[in-house]
Amino acid sequence: MTAARSSCALGAKVGGSGTTGGGDGDDGEGSARAARDQSGERRLVHLNLGVLESVATVGTGTFGRVVLVQDRKTKSYFALKSMKIVDLIRLKQQQHVHNEKEVLMEVNHPFIVKLYWTWHDERCLFMLMEFIPGGELFSYLRSRGRFTNDMGLFFSSEIVCALEYLHSKNIVYRDLKPENILLDRHGHVKLTDFGFSKKLVDRTCTLCGTPEYLAPEIIQGKGHGLAVDWWALGVLIFEMLSGYPPFFDDNPFGIYQKVLSAKLNIPHQLDFYVKDLIRKLLVVDKTKRLGNLKGGAEDVKKHKWFQSIDWDIVPQRKLKPIIVPEVAHDGDSSNFEVYPEEKRRKEPAVSQQDLEIFKNF
Ligand code: AMP
Repeated sequence: MTAARSSCALGAKVGGSGTTGGGDGDDGEGSARAARDQSGERRLVHLNLGVLESVATVGTGTFGRVVLVQDRKTKSYFALKSMKIVDLIRLKQQQHVHNEKEVLMEVNHPFIVKLYWTWHDERCLFMLMEFIPGGELFSYLRSRGRFTNDMGLFFSSEIVCALEYLHSKNIVYRDLKPENILLDRHGHVKLTDFGFSKKLVDRTCTLCGTPEYLAPEIIQGKGHGLAVDWWALGVLIFEMLSGYPPFFDDNPFGIYQKVLSAKLNIPHQLDFYVKDLIRKLLVVDKTKRLGNLKGGAEDVKKHKWFQSIDWDIVPQRKLKPIIVPEVAHDGDSSNFEVYPEEKRRKEPAVSQQDLEIFKNF
């Protein structure tokens, strides 16, 4: 298992023609629609796409492309995510991109990527984010095979803090996996890709996420809340320490069956306490799942596996990173895969009616 896994949404084709890039981000079109930020710290006053120069593509998602760009004037680097409106509509992702924007505009946390700006033209939606140069946790995991207990503990601690923060705002992340966890230049985590996140008002009932990381209640269509992230944390800890996810198969339906049976085969060499934690997170009945009980995230933090962790210093980024990425300078994209750059193609502009859907983006 080496290739990154696609997240999927009901009705969306995964890895098919939807996995294409968006605009180049350097054509001078489109101008800032609004400064979306609530915290002065990350407010950009005015921006025109023309000031951004593409450096390299650092990622392609199912619905778009993420490009490292440099502001020609200030020389600052950013990650520009672009998504083609025709693809978003074809793959019924309108609500997801709105959710992604809404959630990222609301949050402000050291372990969550910062969104500076969003806007659209008549072809693409754009999201300008901080560029996280260390690359995906996924690459480090695959190159090492598996992580040591200490590495797993470090990443899990920072992720628990990020989940606790999101859940305190009633936001469910829904796509926790090594591909969506980036490392900053010091080795601290940054969650990215909030395409499946959602501010909960009620139970939600859509099938989305990545098969290997889907909680039973999602597959069963029973509605799901914050508990799905604690399930995914169990899958992530298992995968980080074992090198493979607890439930896998060649096709998604096989994976779903295994998730529902929740039959766990935890490698015996794993730490005694982490085995216990994994078993308490990967509980099919969400009412009995650690993290989703009365004590919430606090129950997870109090688990014996985390007994060496001083939780007060974790959000201050004071836990000492064990893997420190090699980053030569702020705009170094060498920790990312090399992607073929997209030939400049003018997509047909979408109709006014379709554009209406994104008028607030
Ligand atoms: P997404 O479309 O949001 O899933 O992003 C696809 C890939 O682009 C991610 O898996 C990362 O490898 C990369 N990426 C996304 N956001 C950033 C960012 N802010 N900085 C650096 N790389 C990013």
